[in-house]
Amino acid sequence: MVCGGWIMVEFKLTEEQRLIKKTMHEFAENEIRPVALECDREAEIPWDVVKKAHGLGITTFDLPEEWGGGGNESVLTSAVVAEELAWGCAGIWTSLLGPALAGVPIAILGSDEQKERYLAPFCGEKSMMGAMALTEPEAGSDVRSLSTTAKLEGDEWVLNGTKAFITNGGIADLHVIFATIDRSLGYGGIRGYIVPTGINGEEAPGIEMGEVYDKLGIRASHTAEVVLNDCRVPEENVLGAERTGFYGAMRMLDESRIVVSAGAVGVARAAFEYALDYSKTRKQFGQPIGKFQAIRFKLADMTMKIDAARFLVWRAAWEADMEHHITKYASMAKAYAADVAAEVTTEAVQILGGHGYMKEHPVEKWMRDAKVFPIWEGTSEIQRLVISREDLGAL
Ligand SMILES: Cc1cc2nc3c(=O)[nH]c(=O)nc-3n(C[C@H](O)[C@H](O)[C@H](O)COP(=O)(O)OP(=O)(O)OC[C@H]3O[C@@H](n4cnc5c(N)ncnc54)[C@H](O)[C@@H]3O)c2cc1C
Repeated sequence: MVCGGWIMVEFKLTEEQRLIKKTMHEFAENEIRPVALECDREAEIPWDVVKKAHGLGITTFDLPEEWGGGGNESVLTSAVVAEELAWGCAGIWTSLLGPALAGVPIAILGSDEQKERYLAPFCGEKSMMGAMALTEPEAGSDVRSLSTTAKLEGDEWVLNGTKAFITNGGIADLHVIFATIDRSLGYGGIRGYIVPTGINGEEAPGIEMGEVYDKLGIRASHTAEVVLNDCRVPEENVLGAERTGFYGAMRMLDESRIVVSAGAVGVARAAFEYALDYSKTRKQFGQPIGKFQAIRFKLADMTMKIDAARFLVWRAAWEADMEHHITKYASMAKAYAADVAAEVTTEAVQILGGHGYMKEHPVEKWMRDAKVFPIWEGTSEIQRLVISREDLGAL
């Protein structure tokens, strides 16, 4: 409810959201947690878990019902789902985002023909992966300067360039590649291109996996370079309108930033709960370490920060669901939740002492996993630039 420019916040989830939260939590606890440490060690996607999640509709929850998806349109509900799944393991959660990575841009920017052709199979019986490739070796934060080119030759787009750090890069059944027709046009020159790499039996020529990265955290997800060498796709595989195609993608990125922030809250919560339990049982100087004020204050700070982060995430999600301008709220949620995930997981390791540093406990994994949040989906520095730009305007 908006009241005279101020927001009246209701903290209660709907009955449906509470049920979804419970179901996701059970999935995280029963399916994700038991394999999380091994997948981290081996840097492997747990394909059985991905298939099971697909069967339950988790991986396609945010895709339109019309094409067989879950039809969820609420960013708040997506945030609730993300927190629970990332509580299980942020790497596996990333892998469960597979179809949505490519499916959401198609759902938002695509024509009905494109949705029928590509979303329907994503939502079919077979579990598939998607990828969304924006980042390049020389264009990370500075998206406008991306140099992958798209050139219309006859009735085909020809793509050339290299994409860096792409989740599911090279293993996806479909890649959405962002490329420019003319760098001097800035955002106006950039559009997404649907590059099939297995979906419907379609294989675009000229696309291949480059380096597969060995990562610090979220190791149960796949991240690789994608190399486009005269990659050809039909003319109709372009997403969104000429000159404005990328602006539509920006709202999508704002919304996905909120969902990613919820994932950060999930990781922080996992670490906090573990440290809290540990502080009750670990004894030093004849008493549980949870009796020491130094530990109690750490735990108090951790729970305060997690709650504050969740409030920012839910506020941003609520603004998105109300279809308000969300750029500032999404960036505030992302920057704060990412910082909280990094801080809380580091403090959890501290509370476990030397035991926390060892792989015998999951807190060191959560600390490594948490480090991705201030980097991907726009770094924390970029979020702060966005927040201040929204407040200050162009000085
Ligand atoms: C595990 C993982 C998975 C990813 N998956 C995907 C994916 O699926 N698809 C995709 O497209 N991308 C993906 N990314 C890429 C991610 O979005 C980028 O890493 C991120 O946008 C930052 O770009 P960069 O790494 O090139 O850093 P850079 O832009 O080079 O930044 C380096 C440092 O400089 C700072 N900096 C840069 N510009 C400014 C400025 N103007 N003011 C102040 N500080 C600045 C940054 O904050 C950062 O600290 C993934 C990244 C990771 C780590």
